Parts: sequence; C-alpha cells; structure tokens
Amino acid sequence: MRIPLMAGLTKILLPLLLLLSVAAASSPSSDAEAVSRFQEYLRIDTAQPTPDYAAAVAFLRDQAAAVGLEARTLEFAAGKPLLLLRWPGRRPSLPSILLNSHTDVVPSEPKKWEHAPLSATLDEASGRIYARGSQDMKCVGMQYLEAIRRLRNAGFVPDRNIYVIFVPDEEIGGHEGVELFVASKEFKELNVGLVLDEGLASPREEYRVFYAERSPWWLTIKAKGAPGHGAKLYDGSAMENLMKSVEALRRFRTAQFDLVKSEEKAEGDVVSVNFAYLKAGTPTPTGFVMNLQPSEAEVGIDIRIPPSVHTEALEKRLAEEWAPSSRNLTFEFKQKGSVLDKLGKPAMTIANSSNPWWPVFEESVKRAGGKLGKPEIFPASTDARYFREVGIPAFGFSPMANTPILLHDHNEFLSKDEYLKGIGIYESIIKALATHKDDGIDEESRAEL
Ligand SMILES: [Zn+2]
Repeated sequence: MRIPLMAGLTKILLPLLLLLSVAAASSPSSDAEAVSRFQEYLRIDTAQPTPDYAAAVAFLRDQAAAVGLEARTLEFAAGKPLLLLRWPGRRPSLPSILLNSHTDVVPSEPKKWEHAPLSATLDEASGRIYARGSQDMKCVGMQYLEAIRRLRNAGFVPDRNIYVIFVPDEEIGGHEGVELFVASKEFKELNVGLVLDEGLASPREEYRVFYAERSPWWLTIKAKGAPGHGAKLYDGSAMENLMKSVEALRRFRTAQFDLVKSEEKAEGDVVSVNFAYLKAGTPTPTGFVMNLQPSEAEVGIDIRIPPSVHTEALEKRLAEEWAPSSRNLTFEFKQKGSVLDKLGKPAMTIANSSNPWWPVFEESVKRAGGKLGKPEIFPASTDARYFREVGIPAFGFSPMANTPILLHDHNEFLSKDEYLKGIGIYESIIKALATHKDDGIDEESRAEL
C-alpha cells in the first residue's frame, strides 16, 4: 500500500516541486542582484553642490551596456552630462516614450542619520535601504533599467522607441539640465509622445500620480513710512504698514491650509503662502536701535499656485489688499512661474480617458497589482514642468506605496520589497505604453494634449 501511494504522490508532487524550485532558484537571486545594483548607484556621491556626475554616468553606461541599450552622453552645460539611452522600437516613426530621472540628490547631514546616507545600508530586520536618493529619485532610474532588463530577457520588443534619460541639475532648478535639453535639436529628434517623471512616496496603499505642478511666485513686499521716536503712537509707520500686509496674508494662508486640513482639497490644489524672511530695523554693532521706528521694512514670501487658479485675480488681490500703494507698499517678483504652457493653455496633462495615454497607464498599473490614487497636482517643482511647458504630456509617478515621505529628510529609505514591486509595476507600464496602438495618440497627441 505504501509504495503505490508514494509513487502516486510523487507523480503529482514532483513536477510541482520542480516548478517551485525553478521559480525559487531564479527569482530571489535576480532580486538580490537588482537590489545590490540599486545600492551601488546610491553609493555614488551625487549630492549637490558638487555631484560626481562622471562617476554616475560611468556606472549607468555600464548598466545600459549590460541591459543592451544604446547610450549617448550629451552635455548642454559644462560638467553636467545628460545620459540618453535608447531601446529601438519596431516602428520608430511612432511618438516615443521618455522615462526621466535625475542623477543629483540633495545634501545630507550624516550625523543625524541612523545609517550613513552614502552607505546604502540594507537593514536586514526591517528590509529598509537607507540612503540619500533612495526615494528621490535613484530608485526610479534604476527601476526603469531593471524593468527593461526583464522585458528584454523575456524577448519583448517595443513598437515605439523607448528613451531613458538620466539628467543633472534637477535639485538646483534644472535650468542647466532638462530646461536646456527640451530646447535642443537632440530632444526634438526623439519625437516624444509621453514623459514619465518623478512623483512622491505614499504612506497609503495607493500610489500617487501627478498631472501638473504648482508654480512658484517668490515676491518681496516693501513698506515705507515716516520714521519716528520709539515712544510715539502714530499712523503709517513702515512697520505698521508691513505688519498689516503680513496679517492679511497670514489669514489667507490659514484659510487655504484649513481646506487641506479638512481634506476638502489636496495639498497641491491650494495656494500655499510661507514667509521666507522679515527685514527691518536700524542695526548697531551689537543689535538694533530700540527707540527708533524705521522708515523701511520688507518681507519675503514663497507662494505656490496651482494651474487651476485665476492668476490675474490673485495679482489684483496682491496689489489692492496685500501690498496696496495707498499704504506706501510696493511689491516685486523675484520669480514668477507661469501656470500656462507655451501655447497659452494651463500647463497640465489631462488625467482622464480623454487623454488616450491615461487609461493605458492606469490599466497597466492595476494589471501589475498596484492601486492608483486620485491624480494630484504636485505641491513643489520637478523637471516635468519643462516638458509640459512645451505641450508634451507628462505624469509624475514614483511607485512607493506604504512608505513615509522622506525626500530631502534625514533617514531617507525605501524598503527592498517596495523597490522590487516597483520594478514589476514599470515592467507592466513600459510594456503597455510601448505597444499601445491608438491612431488618436499617434496623429493628434502632440497637438491636443
Ligand atoms: Zn526629485
């Protein structure tokens, strides 16, 4: 009895065990290799203000060669290389997909980290990889390459050209990175139909996706008034004039912030107002003159505006309510980002089915087991704005769910499992975008989106 039973079981179990062991033998080891390649990239010191771009590009060129991608290093500003990789499609005349990531990272204060920010330590107990750039955004750059590696190993060939770029300068504004690239003939030759760029980590189980950005308005308000004795109460002093402005702006700030706190609006949907500096007083070698009301005072403000806001109305409010000349106030823009693209339309990418790229993107994330939150406006700035400015659709997306938002913070980390899951997500996205056939996209997307 025992022998036939065993034989029967073996017949059923053996193929199953073999199948399991094949999967078990290949997948964990290739995952471990992918993680160690990620760590290697994280260990290259590309922190501003002195990023080692040469080392990063050398590493990435090796990776590209191993994956089988064509590589070109472009340099639009001296010492700031941009690496352009190409995976040729079967129908290169179709609009291409451009996968963007920046190689530079912000500096860190190593003493305030649990693990050195350049060590890329994998904490075995928690599975977290600690490093500057683990979220912003060396993860995404390597995930693009790992996803392409897997697709190529599986014999997949894209219809469209797929381009992957590794760009410098993002953390200091991108003016000598993507801004110059977008204006170049090399960029025009790529015939880009859709760009993917960075998003943010999500503490929830849904990934976040961004279709627009707020524009910065950096401005100063200056007040003038009659100087006077510190003991005298009188109207129209510079400080009094300025403080009225500060108070009015602070009330507006509170109202906008309340909309976020009550979850009526997302962070990117409100106008943020933050005071950057206050400047007033008559200095002495040890401090300030205390019995003198100064004749001038100044405040610096960082305002961020979503593309849905009527900017003319806001500027009118600034002139009439927050910095009126009737109170001897003047204002000056240090930076005034436009919420419109170069065609005069709001600089946003449509994130619903009227944009043919959107359902393809959305479905491909779901197919890979990811959940997508409601599309959002990015609260700060990324290089995606330069693409949207010239009318090219761009989504901001970094597949990091169940992860605290730690970009630019101490102890920035990404869990190993979340990193690996993200590779699978990109595999699905790239495959879908690369093969999607829609005449609407191919003939009209550049004009319409
Ligand atoms: Zn970034």
